[in-house]
This record gives sequence, C-alpha cells and structure tokens, in this order.
Amino acid sequence: MLRPRIDLHTHTTASDGTTPPEVLVREARDAGLDAIALTDHDTIDGWDRAAQALPDGLALVRGAEISCARHGISLHLLAYLFDPSSTPLMDRMTELRESRVRRAEQMVRMLVADGVPVSWEQVRDLADGTVGRPHVAQALVESGVVGSVAEAFTPEWIGSRGRYWGTRLEVDVVEMIGLVRDAGGVTVFAHPGAAARGRVVGDQVIADMAAAGLAGLEVDHPDHPPETRERLRELAEAHGLLVTGASDFHGLNKTVALGDFVTSPHVFEELLAGASGSAVL
Ligand code: AMP
Ligand code: ZN
Ligand code: FE
Ligand code: FE
Repeated sequence: MLRPRIDLHTHTTASDGTTPPEVLVREARDAGLDAIALTDHDTIDGWDRAAQALPDGLALVRGAEISCARHGISLHLLAYLFDPSSTPLMDRMTELRESRVRRAEQMVRMLVADGVPVSWEQVRDLADGTVGRPHVAQALVESGVVGSVAEAFTPEWIGSRGRYWGTRLEVDVVEMIGLVRDAGGVTVFAHPGAAARGRVVGDQVIADMAAAGLAGLEVDHPDHPPETRERLRELAEAHGLLVTGASDFHGLNKTVALGDFVTSPHVFEELLAGASGSAVL
C-alpha cells in the first residue's frame, strides 16, 4: 500500500471555507487522502455533517481551530479529538463565536460610515456558521469594492490592524491548551510562523505552550517559507514537539488544494495516542 496521506487542517462552510462539510469529505477522498481533520474556526458545527457523509477509506479527525492569544499577540490553536460535551471548552468557543459576530458588525459599521457599499445583511447571508473576516472580504468583492478576497486582507481594508479591522475576543493560549487537554484532546500550534498575516509570537511563547502540554507545531503550512520551516523544525525538536503539515484548505477563499501539505503517518499515530476525548471516525 502507498504511504497514507493525511491533511490535518481544513475549513468548511461551518466557518470561513466555501465547501460544505459533506462535500469536503468527498473531495478529500477524491484527492487521494486517507485522513483529514476538520478544523473550523471556534466551532464543531460541521462535525456531524462530515461524519454522516464520510466515504469509505477516509478517516475523519474531528477538531477545531481556536482563536487564542499570548501577551497581546493573536495565534491559532488546532485542537483535535476533544470531548464535545466538555462544558468549559464549549462555553469558551461559544463566547468566541459571539464576539466574532459583534466584531464583524463593527467592521461593517466602519465601512458603511465611510460610504463603502456593503451591509451587515450581506455579510450575515454569506456566513453559514462562524463569521470571519473572509465573509466581510467576500462582501467587498461582491460589491465590486476590491477585486479579490486577498486584496481585502490589506492595510487599506481588513488586513491585520488595517483601516477597517476590528478586534475580537481571544483566549489565552495556555488556558486553552489546558481546557482542551481536560476535554481529552490534543493541541497543535497552527502556522506559528505565518508572519505575512501579522505579528507572530516569539520562541518563549512556544516554550510556554510546550510546558502547558502542547503536542505539536504545524510546520509544513502554505504560509511558511522554507527557512521558517527549518527554524520551526529545530524548535520542535528542542521542545520534544511533533511536526505536522496541512493545507489549511478554505475552498475558493484560498488557492491551496486539499493535500498540498501533509502529516507523516508516524506523527499521526503519536497524536492519536495522546487523545481520549473523541474517536477517529
Ligand atoms: P478572522 O479569524 O475572522 O480574523 O479571519 C482570519 C481568517 O482570514 C484566517 O483564518 C484566514 O482564513 C483568512 N485570511 C487571513 N489572511 C488572509 C489572506 N491574506 N487572504 C485570504 N484569507 C486570509
Ligand atoms: Zn479561516
Ligand atoms: Fe489559522
Ligand atoms: Fe485555518
């Protein structure tokens, strides 16, 4: 048998991807993948739809990508195989989603105040689940204000700390690693070196996260240049962290394809061994 291909970071219409969960699992199998993780932003809403449509031969790791921060710098934490009935964890995710709605409303208010032709109804209709900046970006494209989603993520528009960017709740990452672990899950630091998106945390924060029980670093990611990957690989080694790879697939909102970046089967096994909150399907 060929070496299994495993993509541990994907988004659907449950957050800011453009592919519905039941379509994502089909496309993953068609792309020759053997396992995927579903990691929508701050929600597990896509879990059941993906599970019900799961094709033969594809393993599904249920997860989420959780909005966190450390010392004022935003970061994303991938959480896998946690127990969805864990109230402390689920309550935190609900707060994060509620804050996302308030923040998207605020960004739209700022745009409207400057005469930009977008509306809250438009953004709300574009979002099926967790509201994110990509929905505001889509509205800007739809209204002909910018030519592409990528163009909206610039300082003139809704890029990090940009003119129409708004802040939202983020949970301290050390607290969140604890909440996920208490729920039987395992955590991986998503795209730790994605500097083009905004500020990234220093090595001490990664050390703090490792001490709190972080399992791995997502090293092979589309937003990491080769030299960043090398540096992160060394850091993972120094802290005894696993090294993962994943596409961070968002459908039409990004150019990356499912399976463009993958995790080794050996690392996958080690991740699974650390989780007890929910099963791989
Ligand atoms: P939010 O979590 O609502 O602040 O939105 C951040 C999300 O926007 C990320 O998770 C990506 O999905 C998306 N994103 C960030 N930068 C870009 C970009 N340059 N082009 C397209 N999508 C982006
Ligand atoms: Zn996203
Ligand atoms: Fe992310
Ligand atoms: Fe992501």
